[in-house]
Parts: sequence; structure tokens; C-alpha cells
Amino acid sequence: MYFCRRKNTPMMNPIRKNAFLAASDRAQVDTQAGDTLVSRYYGESVFSPKAMRAHLSEEVYEALMESIEHGHRVPREIAQQVANGMKNWAIAKGATHYTHWFQPLTGATAEKHDTFFSLNHEGEAIESFSGSALSQQEPDASSLPSGGIRNTFEARGYTAWDPSSPAFIFSGPAGNTLCIPTIFVSYTGESLDYKSPLLKSLAAVEQAGVAVCQYFDKNITRVFPTLGVEQEYFLVDAALFAARQDLVLCGRTLFGHAPARGQQLEDHYFGSIPDRVHAFMVDLERESHRLGIPLKTRHNEVAPAQFECAPIFEEINLAVDHNQLLMDLMDKLARRHNLRVLLHEKPFKGVNGSGKHNNWSLSTNTGKNLLSPGKTPKSNLMFLTFFVNAIKAFHDYADQIRASIASASNDHRLGANEAPPAIMSAFLGEQLSKILDEIEKGRIEHNDSETRIMMHSIKAIPEILLDNTDRNRTSPFAFTGNKFELRAVGSSANSAQAMTVLNAAMARTLTDFKEQVDKLIVDGDSRDTALLTVIQKFIKQSRKIRFEGNGYSEEWAQEAEKRGLKNLRTTPAALDAMADKKAHELFVKSGIFSKREIEARHEILLDDYIKKIQIESRIIGELVMTRIVPAVVTYQNTLLANLKGLQELGLKKAALAPQMDVLETISTHVQDLIRLSEDMRQARKAANLIDDARQRAMAYCDQVRPHFDAIRDRVDRLELMVDDEHWPLPKYWELLFIR
Ligand code: ADP
Ligand code: MG
Repeated sequence: MYFCRRKNTPMMNPIRKNAFLAASDRAQVDTQAGDTLVSRYYGESVFSPKAMRAHLSEEVYEALMESIEHGHRVPREIAQQVANGMKNWAIAKGATHYTHWFQPLTGATAEKHDTFFSLNHEGEAIESFSGSALSQQEPDASSLPSGGIRNTFEARGYTAWDPSSPAFIFSGPAGNTLCIPTIFVSYTGESLDYKSPLLKSLAAVEQAGVAVCQYFDKNITRVFPTLGVEQEYFLVDAALFAARQDLVLCGRTLFGHAPARGQQLEDHYFGSIPDRVHAFMVDLERESHRLGIPLKTRHNEVAPAQFECAPIFEEINLAVDHNQLLMDLMDKLARRHNLRVLLHEKPFKGVNGSGKHNNWSLSTNTGKNLLSPGKTPKSNLMFLTFFVNAIKAFHDYADQIRASIASASNDHRLGANEAPPAIMSAFLGEQLSKILDEIEKGRIEHNDSETRIMMHSIKAIPEILLDNTDRNRTSPFAFTGNKFELRAVGSSANSAQAMTVLNAAMARTLTDFKEQVDKLIVDGDSRDTALLTVIQKFIKQSRKIRFEGNGYSEEWAQEAEKRGLKNLRTTPAALDAMADKKAHELFVKSGIFSKREIEARHEILLDDYIKKIQIESRIIGELVMTRIVPAVVTYQNTLLANLKGLQELGLKKAALAPQMDVLETISTHVQDLIRLSEDMRQARKAANLIDDARQRAMAYCDQVRPHFDAIRDRVDRLELMVDDEHWPLPKYWELLFIR
């Protein structure tokens, strides 16, 4: 029996006990006191227009802004002067190093620091930062995934400055670093990151969007997607986290019986925020605001220990950078509070997982939200145009969008009785559905009086939307008044992947739309008649993607099948649409991806899937054989000794039957565990022999992964049978209820 150091401390095995003591001994961590008015420090760590004005000449500032606005390359002389100003600003803010900050296909962000320190030709130490160091770097970074694009003879990878996302200073406990957002491409120009295709998709949306806007408003010269990312996450105590090998190595618990109380009381959602968590949130917000990340809301989510934060929306490129930076900040700051943040989509079985709701819309240089209806029939027609195009885009490229959110970790949500389902569908709300139905049924004669009647019926849209509070939490793609919300993105994912596909689909659809409208106009239709005719056609063609009911229900799965919608529950199958004929048509034509890039990405994602399942499988095997089975055997021996003792006292076998039963059940589970672990290992070995990446991923999915549940079932049963003192892993009740 273990010595109980403190009163009220549970008796546990030493590993768990130490973790538990460390967790409960924690003093409350105070946030660093500081200014409470965000407006006083918002963006102070960003090379913002204000900082630029202070550190650049008027001329350089204007030239830089001009390049950003038009997406032109920043001229060399200007880059040199920007570098100088940026360096002076950064040094004044305590930065000693600079880095190109990029988003390789690992999903994380990457950086390689260089110091400003240099030697001049007289050997004296100086601080320098050249225009070329700002504009381009060759970090090598040959170990980052490239899907075969970078074989050794052309292994170089380059980062290139993205001036449309401002540089910022990241503060660490030991110093500050100037971070310059960049794209990451190969020597031969193929993109190796998430940012470069996203930027290309923006150009495509702009071109197609501006062209369509000309029907309505000639002043529109820019169209750009906006994004607001709601980020869900879990927090657990750092000491308990450290005692769980599965959390440390793969971000989710591979074992753990559901606690008697989970989320069934529905008392956590929007509940009062625990002090420790609140302290973390305050710090997170302060650091985010310094970095110009406009965090706005925070609240408890549905599951115990689950929370959410959301910023004010921004231009999509910036919003993606900010979300990546936010995830990094969360990780760093949680540690400061002796907590650990879990961004995994499903850290705990039996309670809700986490997503990243991508609120997406299109804006213009004139300040108009194109998915927000206006007050006049004309602006309503404009709204309808973009609204219906978005639905059609989602309909036409649903498989590519499904592929863009596929990952081993997101499989636990999509298609696993968890929000949202793997079937892609769009929710519009009752009133808008009705309006589209009316337009679909309406007769559009090719004369203006009929068109006017139709126009009359769409005049009522704005009033309707004002009190349209319809919410459908089960839909992967929901219209929420003035934006679409793609809810299927995983909590740990880089949003750029899904947003690039959505933008590409929208650009492609708008281009088709314009071609068709123009043709009708040439053939003699008025503009409004032509627009309505194609809108009506698009409504008809995209009907099957619309669904207003419960997305979790079995009836929907059946109905969806009838409609011919795919229900791809696993990543290897969902990824096919990333590189199929339709994907080529969507991406290659628009120049967002080359054929080689799509194929490389497909391979990288398959490889990522395989590795993630392989790692989980190995951890399961190791935990079973080195932690679970030994702990259970120890307990078994205690029972055995007890039984023997009782028999020696003369108790009859029949009287000992209940204890024998317990012992037998435990023994059976242990035998199962040993056998199943070995079966799983053999399945892995067989899968590893498969050359083709897709088939190997399929083997991991269909042959290796099913063992996880079978093994977990035995382990979780044992957790409820074995003496708590012997159990080697912190349990769910300890992890999920932050004290
Ligand atoms: P919910 O009710 O779903 O929590 P909110 O109205 O709070 O939604 O908005 C959620 C997110 O949507 C926020 O990040 C918000 O800034 C963002 N959002 C609002 N309008 C737009 C828009 N036009 N484009 C993109 N995102 C938007
Ligand atoms: Mg929302």
C-alpha cells in the first residue's frame, strides 16, 4: 500500500498519485496585471500601418501599400527600406532575431531564426537586416513534407514574403523574435504550404467576383473572402497530461472509461468559467490583442473542460494566419498556467469533440458583404446571385470540400455520431428555402413584366432575414444570416485547406454563372431576366445538397443516399476527391494547384493518415503491454492471494464463486488484450508491406484501426474492475474536471 502523504489524497499508484498531487497542489496562477483597456495595446506587436508610418518614409509607405493592394511584388529598393524600418521597429520592441514564418503541410507553423547581429567589414558587431533577407530565404527545411516534389537534386525550398499579412513580434520568456509571414515553395515553384494556394484562390475569387459584381455596381473593383474562425479546445491539468502517454504523444486519450458524470447534465455549456481557466483566457486574449488577433468571445463549450473562443472576422488570409498563431499562443500560454491545451478533434471518448467553425463570406472594396441582402430589389438580386452561387459551388464541389477537411483525427467527428455528419449538405433556414423554392417554380418569361413580378417576391428578403434566427447545429454548411458557416473543419486543422477549396469552387461557379448570363443577354434577354434565369437554373441544379432537417438522423443518411450524396466516413476514401478528374478541372484550370501539386498533396495527406494511425496503434500496444497488463496482473495476484488465504481457512469453492468470477473475468480480458495487441501488430506489419499509399492507408483504416475499439473495450472494462490504487493512467474524472 502506498504511503498517503496528505489527508484527503486519493490512494493511487505512484505515477498517478504524483500527477494528482502536482495537479491539486497548484497555486492559482495569476494573470500578469496590466492595462485593462484593449484599445491601449491592441496591435502593439504588429508592424501595422501606424508602426509603418512611424518607421518608413511617406514614399516607401505608399509604395508598399500600393503593392499590397494590387498584389504586386514589392520592388527591391522598397523592400530594402521596409526591411530597415521593420528592423528599427523590431529592435525597439526588444527583438533580437527575425524569422520567416510559414505554414508547411505538417499543419503546424514553421520558423527558422536568424539574428540581426552581423559583422561589418571592419569586424565590428552591427545589427543588420537586408531587403533580400526580408523578401526571400532558403530555409532548406528538406524534412518538411513535399509529397515527392523535392527529391534530392532539387531539394531547395524557398520562403517568400507575403506583405499582405503584417509582420509581428512573438515574445518568448527568453527574448523576442520578428516574424515575417511567408509562403513556402520548392525550387521549381510548386507550393509546399497552405498559404500559397490560398493566395492563388483569392486571386481567382477576386477576378470572378468582380466580374459578376459589374452587373450591379461598377464601383466594385475588389472582392475578397472574409473569415471568422470559432475555435473549440479542451484544457487539462499539465501534470495529469504528463502522466498520460497517449495525450503527450498523440493528443487524445486512447483509453479511459466515461466518468459517471460527463456532459449529460448539460451544465457546462455557457456555465461559469473556472478561475484557473479564466486566468488562461485573460492571458490569451491579452497576448492575442497585442498581436492584432481580434479575439472577441469566450465561453464554456458542451463537454466538461471544453471551451471556445472566436475573433471578429477578417480578410481570409489574415484570419488564417491569426488562427495559426492563436493555436500556437494557446499552447504556449496554457503551459504558463500549468494547463495543457488539446486541439485534437476528439480527445475524449463519450463527450463532444472539437471543431473549428469557419464563418465565410465575400466582401467588396465598397464595404459590402455580398452575402448580406440589401434594402432594394436590385441589391436583393445581387444577394441572391452570390447566395445561390455559393450553394451551387458547395453542391458541385462537395466531394472536394469533404476531402479538404479529412484527417485521421477529424474522422472521429465526421460520420461518427458527432457534429457534423460526413454527408455534405447545406442549411439555408426555412424562409430562404421557401424563397428559393418559389423562384425555382416561378415562370420566367423572357419579357420584363414577368421578371418584375419575380423581383417583387424577392423584395421581402431583408425583413425576413432580420428575424431569421433559425439555427441548425447539425449541418456542415449553414447559412447564418449574412455568411455561411462551414462547421466540419477540424479543431486542429489549418483552415486554409478548406477555405482554398471553397474559394476555388466559388470562383469557378461565378465564372460559369457569368458566361451563362452574358450569353442570354447577347441573345436578347434583359439583364434581370438573364440573371434570374441562371439563378433559377442553379437552384434546380443544386437542390439535392439542401437539407433542413436533423443531420444526425438515420433517415438523413438514407435520404442522402437516395439523393446520390456521398457519405464518406473515413479519410483514405474521402481523399480520393482531392486528386480526381473533377479536382483537376477545378484546381488546374484556375491555376490554384498544378497536377503535380495536387498529387503531392494527396500523397502527403495519405501519408499523414497512415502515420497518425500507426503512432496510435503503437502507443496502444505499448500501453497495454507495459502499463495496463502489468497493473492488472499485480491486482490479479492480490485477488489470488486473497482467495488462497480464504481457501486455507476452509471456505468452500462454492462460497468463493463471486471472487472466482471476478478473477476469471479479469483473466479473460487480459488474455484478450494480449491476443488483440498481437493481432494488431500483425495487421500493421501486413499494411506496411503495401507499396501503394492509398491501399496502405486503406489497410490501416480497415485492418489496423478496428483493433483500437476492441482493445479499448477490454481496457475500459478493466478500469472499472481493478483497484483504483493500481490503475496506471489518470482517469477521465480527473482529467475532465479542472480544479
Ligand atoms: P455564432 O452565433 O455562430 O457564435 P457569431 O455571430 O458570433 O456566430 O459569429 C461567429 C463568427 O462569425 C465571428 O468570428 C464573426 O466575426 C464571424 N462573422 C460575422 N460576420 C462575418 C462575415 N461577414 N464574414 C465572415 N465571418 C463573419
Ligand atoms: Mg457559429
